[in-house]
Amino acid sequence: MSRFWSDLVRELEPYVPGEQPRVADLVKLNTNESPFGPSPAVTAAITAEAAETLRLYPDPQSSALREALATYHGVKPDQVFVGNGSDEVLAHAFVALLKHDAPLLFPDVTYSFYPVYCALFGIDYDTVPLDEAMNVRVADYRRPAGAIILANPNAPTGVALPRDEIRRLLADHPDQPVVVDEAYVDFGGETAIPLIAEHPNLLVVHTMSKSRGLAGLRVGYAIGDAGLIEALVRVKDSFNSYPLGRPVQAGAIASIEDEAYFQDRRAAVIAGRERMTRGLRALGFEVLPSSANFVFARHPDRGGRELAQALRERGVLVRHFSAPRTADFLRITVGTDSQIERLLTALTEILKG
Ligand SMILES: *Cc1c(COP(=O)(O)O)cnc(C)c1O
Repeated sequence: MSRFWSDLVRELEPYVPGEQPRVADLVKLNTNESPFGPSPAVTAAITAEAAETLRLYPDPQSSALREALATYHGVKPDQVFVGNGSDEVLAHAFVALLKHDAPLLFPDVTYSFYPVYCALFGIDYDTVPLDEAMNVRVADYRRPAGAIILANPNAPTGVALPRDEIRRLLADHPDQPVVVDEAYVDFGGETAIPLIAEHPNLLVVHTMSKSRGLAGLRVGYAIGDAGLIEALVRVKDSFNSYPLGRPVQAGAIASIEDEAYFQDRRAAVIAGRERMTRGLRALGFEVLPSSANFVFARHPDRGGRELAQALRERGVLVRHFSAPRTADFLRITVGTDSQIERLLTALTEILKG
């Protein structure tokens, strides 16, 4: 704190990312990173690009990357926006599309960055409770709204909404921007991208951090009607013209081009999730049905904070959130087979004690 702070900064309660401790041999299941590295083609592309052109500014429009993403998703390049991680893409969307006189709506249990952006950008919002089973009920969004944002699959629950429910939500709100944050869609959700053609108010946001093993590269993107994309570009060009460096653009293109690697690794994560879910249920945990690369689980006899602490003492990091509706739960990222083994062994010990 310093007396030079603005009133706005004084009032902020920043998002707290999962910790990144520099301790060897930790089983790190707390930030939904991929347990696998990216395709070797990605590291090769980054190295080659860095060797040649770091002296020069990157393409401010990331045109080659946007073309690759447009081809991949079956849309036009002017329907694609890229940013420095999907957090940055979302930040621009909050300013460009989600700030209105009527409140922005999002679930009471969702990505905790959304209220942080609202505070930063002065956006009025209302939260809509998930139902008892932690599902989004789209009928509950039939109320005055300036805009809507949903994470689908939701975080930190992992629960997915079928595309038909998103379709219903869009039918209810033809005049409001609707943002669907699909950070985890590659692990079993249904993408809303096919709905974009008929819904000029729909923006779908993806990240390369989770399913493509590129959290360290910082690449996220949005797909939507060209009019929505233009709004994001206007904000970007009022903030930072060059959000993606040259090696980053080159690495992201190489990832998109290695489809076989992508499919192989995401299938491995899904298989790991099913193994982890069975193991946790065998230990008495209630595990929400996950379509993500993590599970949200609670034990009838032990609190979330206590379990997270006991796991930490055994070198296993998981994420615990202290809000009332989520305090009983642990959010556990799917790891490698041996990490899942270490998690289950540690929990077995803890629950015996
Ligand atoms: C991880 C995550 C993001 C941010 O991803 P980056 O692209 O790494 O910034 C956005 N939304 C949700 C729901 C996430 O879990």
